[in-house]
Amino acid sequence: MTNNLEKVKTGNTETEKLHTGTSFHTHLETAKTLADIFEVVKAAVWESRRKSRGGLMLGLANLGNHPQGFFGAFYPVGSNVIVMNKIPLERIKETRPEIYKPYIFHVLLHEYLHTLGYLDESGVRKMVLEITRDVFGDEHLATGIAKDTTHFFHNLVYPGAAWQPDDMRMELVPGFDRGSTSYIG
Ligand SMILES: [Zn+2]
Repeated sequence: MTNNLEKVKTGNTETEKLHTGTSFHTHLETAKTLADIFEVVKAAVWESRRKSRGGLMLGLANLGNHPQGFFGAFYPVGSNVIVMNKIPLERIKETRPEIYKPYIFHVLLHEYLHTLGYLDESGVRKMVLEITRDVFGDEHLATGIAKDTTHFFHNLVYPGAAWQPDDMRMELVPGFDRGSTSYIG
């Protein structure tokens, strides 16, 4: 990822700040909140694809169970909210802290690409792998997850674009998408 630093110079100030002197590895490691990790996701997509959008919110909800497994997150198409599934998030934090942040990065990147208008599931998964590899390299856990999600999370499934929960009580995560304005234009 460091060899892409020149390209970043043409970006906006906020993006430059995210890249100069600190690698994506460091950014993810030092991220403390979901909002911090989302900033890394946005920077990664900007770095790799020069795409961005602002005005997003993050919600946490119990998305319930699915016959084939659990959902990491979902994006109601046409909305401005990414909803993360609360229970698996808490469980992964407790039981597998080393992959907690790579997991969040992975599911937020997936849903963020949906918010950018990419709705094809297999296309999005391919892009997630390409972008993750671009910014973290081949050896990073986040890239490992993107390569073979089931190896890390046997039961992680992705909702189809039209999926809606029966009943969603959602709490909004404060401070999400705080840098959004600097990514527009
Ligand atoms: Zn999806």
